[in-house]
Amino acid sequence: MMIVEPIAKAAASLLKKRFTVQYPEERESIPDNYRGKLRLDKDTCINCSACALICPNKTIDMVIVETDRGQKKMPQVNHARCLFCGLCEEVCPPKCLTLTKNYEFETYDRRELVTRPEELE
Ligand code: SF4
Ligand code: SF4
Repeated sequence: MMIVEPIAKAAASLLKKRFTVQYPEERESIPDNYRGKLRLDKDTCINCSACALICPNKTIDMVIVETDRGQKKMPQVNHARCLFCGLCEEVCPPKCLTLTKNYEFETYDRRELVTRPEELE
C-alpha cells in the first residue's frame, strides 16, 4: 500500500499537460499588456528629450545619431535598468517610443543591454 501511492502519483504527473515549453523553438503566447523591450521609430522622433527627462530610473540617455537630416540626439535605453513603467511611452509626443512584447534579454554581459537608438527595433 505504501509504495502504490507514490507510483500512482508519479504516473498521474506523467500524464499531466507540460507547464514548460522548449524555448527557443517553442514560445508561450504573450499577453497584450506585457511590457518588454522598447522600440523607437527614428523617422518620427522629434529629439525633444521628454522620455529621458521623465524616466524615473535614469535609464535613457540622449545620444548622437547620424540621420539623413544630419546629426540628431535620440534615446539610448539601458534595458538592465528599465522598470518597464511605460512613462517614456506615455510622454512621447509623436508616440515613436513604445514598449513591445519582446522579452528576450538573455546575455552574459549586462553592457549588451544598453541599446543604441539604431538598435531599438
Ligand atoms: S519604461 Fe520607465 S524605466 Fe523604462 S525607460 Fe521608460 S520611463 Fe524609463
Ligand atoms: S523618443 Fe519621443 S520623447 Fe524621446 S526624444 Fe524622441 S520624440 Fe521625444
